[in-house]
Amino acid sequence: MNHKNTQIVTEDLKNIWHPCTQMKDHETLPLIPIDRGEGIYLYDFDNKSYIDAISSWWVNIFGHTNKHISNRVKEQLDTLEHVLLAGFTHKPAVNLADKLVNLTPSGLDKVFFADNGSSAVEVALKMSFHYHRNRGENRPLFLSLTNSYHGETIGALSVGDVELYKETYAPLLISCIQTPVPEDQSEASANEAIIKLEKILKERGNEISAFIIEPLIQGAGGMHMYHPLYITKAKKLCEKYGVHLIADEIMTGFGRTGTMFGCEQAEVTPDFMTLSKGLTGGYLPLAVVMTTNKVYNAFYCDYNEHKAFLHSHSYTGNPLACSAALATLELFEASDVLGDNRKKSAYILEKLEKFKTLSNVKEVRQTGMVVAIELKGYKPEERIGLKVYQYGLNNGVLLRPLGHIVYFMPPYIITYDEIDKMIDTAYEAIKLLP
Ligand SMILES: *Cc1c(COP(=O)(O)O)cnc(C)c1O
Repeated sequence: MNHKNTQIVTEDLKNIWHPCTQMKDHETLPLIPIDRGEGIYLYDFDNKSYIDAISSWWVNIFGHTNKHISNRVKEQLDTLEHVLLAGFTHKPAVNLADKLVNLTPSGLDKVFFADNGSSAVEVALKMSFHYHRNRGENRPLFLSLTNSYHGETIGALSVGDVELYKETYAPLLISCIQTPVPEDQSEASANEAIIKLEKILKERGNEISAFIIEPLIQGAGGMHMYHPLYITKAKKLCEKYGVHLIADEIMTGFGRTGTMFGCEQAEVTPDFMTLSKGLTGGYLPLAVVMTTNKVYNAFYCDYNEHKAFLHSHSYTGNPLACSAALATLELFEASDVLGDNRKKSAYILEKLEKFKTLSNVKEVRQTGMVVAIELKGYKPEERIGLKVYQYGLNNGVLLRPLGHIVYFMPPYIITYDEIDKMIDTAYEAIKLLP
């Protein structure tokens, strides 16, 4: 590492406690200091480039320092950087809410702002519970899918099911039960899982406020994928038992699954939809909870401190973040992003054929612009993902496997040549594993 890189890493480790990290790992695994980003590339201070194959934790859907988004944020910066959203309003929030209502499945007509994904999940959970309460029902339980991930604040962690994040905090969590996620992408396994869902709803439906799902792809749970039929049928069952359906589209939203939102493939309007990550193109933290007029109206009455939704965050609806989100949505309007993605994902699928011949590959799966390669024959303590990660970094590609699952979630602007480089590097990394 050159002097500049080393200096920054040393200064960093003096003061910073990094997310999702056993800090002692950095005694042997160097931090990567990033100087600048451009398109799908990140550059360190030595001008070494890395393809950002995971869109920096799934947020930079149009890559880094996009000219259009940058310009829109700069314009907003000189106009209004922030104002509270209680009792006040501003153009970027109003315009963004209008666009989101038009873009999301019909019936999602109200927008509640938050500032990160986990907070949006907390909002949806609280709103759902509170809705039932306002209507004289007590439903203190939530339902979620096995292997799900919904964030890491206490409520969001409670409805998730990834042991790694959850186990330690079990005594602190709110009440939640799980129903099995469909085993694979087949219709048959969707139908099997529906039978189990119906059994739970029949037994405990009247205690449950909401059923929360990640539509089509469970992200942090290892890019596990399932058939849209499950969502279509789950929505019908939820209606039957008066249980809300919360579609957590924080990762799947904004084109990742091949359609603008995962729910579209199931032709379902959920009662709540949480959005964040790609919403601002990776520029600024922002999240929204979309809901129906029916939910909104259950809170709408003369002032009553028990009935109003008195939830807020300091940065709720920040104008800079809203302007980044507006600019991101304009990029979808300016060209056929989803159509281009469909061609790219077909190309990626073709390129993945060769992985199937490797003896340590268990399965290759894909939904839209998410591809996962599941490895087999390794124990967790071998930390096989770390080896792929390091090989990728040494060869200019940022891959960040989830355990033994190597995946690609590149910015949509990736070119065909760059897809080749990204996939070939992962292939070499996997081939070289012991
Ligand atoms: C990332 C993610 C969250 C949490 O969002 P944060 O902004 O990281 O708090 C919630 N749900 C899903 C499906 C996610 O992928």
